Amino acid sequence: MQRSDGTSWTLDTLFVHGEKRSRTTDLTGVPSVQPIYASTTYLHQNAEALDQAFEKGSGSEGEEPTYVYGRQGNPSMQGLEAVMTQAEGGVGAVTFGSGMAAIHAALLAAGLVTGCKIVAGQDMYGASVALLRQMFMPMGVEVVLLDLCGPHAADLIWSEQPDVVYVETLSNPLVKLIDLAAISAASAEVGAVSIVDSTMTTPYLLRPIVYGFDMVVHSATKYLGGHGDSTAGVVISAKKSLLDALRNCATLMGAMLSPFEAHLIKRGLQTLPLRMERHCRNAIQVAHFLSEHPAVDCVHYPGLPGHPQHELATALLDRGLYGGMLSFELKAQSRQAVMCFMDKLNLCLPATTLGDAWSLVSYPPMSSHRTLSAADRKKMGITEGCIRLSVGIEDVEDIIGDLEQALQG
Ligand code: PLP
Repeated sequence: MQRSDGTSWTLDTLFVHGEKRSRTTDLTGVPSVQPIYASTTYLHQNAEALDQAFEKGSGSEGEEPTYVYGRQGNPSMQGLEAVMTQAEGGVGAVTFGSGMAAIHAALLAAGLVTGCKIVAGQDMYGASVALLRQMFMPMGVEVVLLDLCGPHAADLIWSEQPDVVYVETLSNPLVKLIDLAAISAASAEVGAVSIVDSTMTTPYLLRPIVYGFDMVVHSATKYLGGHGDSTAGVVISAKKSLLDALRNCATLMGAMLSPFEAHLIKRGLQTLPLRMERHCRNAIQVAHFLSEHPAVDCVHYPGLPGHPQHELATALLDRGLYGGMLSFELKAQSRQAVMCFMDKLNLCLPATTLGDAWSLVSYPPMSSHRTLSAADRKKMGITEGCIRLSVGIEDVEDIIGDLEQALQG
């Protein structure tokens, strides 16, 4: 690299700038894998083109996204957003640095401000409940947590007349379903923005926009990424106005996804269908095994024919697959019995996440629902003997063998 007068830059300058940059992208040969765009800022052909890029706004939707600054969008994020938009059938998507950041942005984009009311499922991921209670309630948002898994969910929405409705496709950890069509219809009738966290189902099993939801949220940290090596979130919107609000939140909150994580999640998506098939097929076998085990009081898995929501699950979930998540309760309803079971596991990992390739066991009172009081947990039906199992894609006989030996008294 040289100065304009033909002399060389000093080493100090050379190391800062490296090789000569091109202001165009006419590579000869296109990489089959999209490169990871680590750049925080983007060069344009000349000052006029840069001015136009500012005008258009980087990361904007449309055929030719224009990039200016990394926080406002970059090609790695955009690639993932394009795939998720198509997968969920939305008008666009915005990626975030975590599932919680995605949920936070979706609630803000829905217009949840002082004086508003939100109705949310009481059976939700603990941190989502904590977000509503600890961040939105002090701002003057009325938070109403209700059992929206029951048959009267639409009536409850009608009587509460909320501004926003927030639910999860499968509740955590009790794996209860909601009637998506009834809830989105009731939300639309009362003028509420409807948001659903579809982390547990993924678009391979369920596409909530088909049922009328306004926004779909995923913790991409789970099944979408699938390998336990990246933290990410994504919101897919069914409406352009909500999409613009989401993009604005991401930019102003600075909660955007890093290019490297975007690459990992996109790579994970390549095998999502294969993994989901295996997760689900293993889960049904594990559910049958546990439901017949003398040390187990009950199993929560909608794929079991005796499950009270089996019919709804069959109608909602695609391909006869009922998800990879289940929970069960030990007959010995004690924390100590659960700890002992977890310590005996050799294959299933006692760790607080779900949707990874390997099987994971967690104890909700210790992990996802730790911030809730025991009374709140009890109200949600989460007992002291409740264990959540994210069934992995290992050989199912090995998973069952590990559970069997750990359940032995
Ligand atoms: N939604 C659900 C259903 C979850 O289980 C989790 C995390 O476990 C989240 C959202 C939050 O995702 P993240 O940990 O990526 O912030």
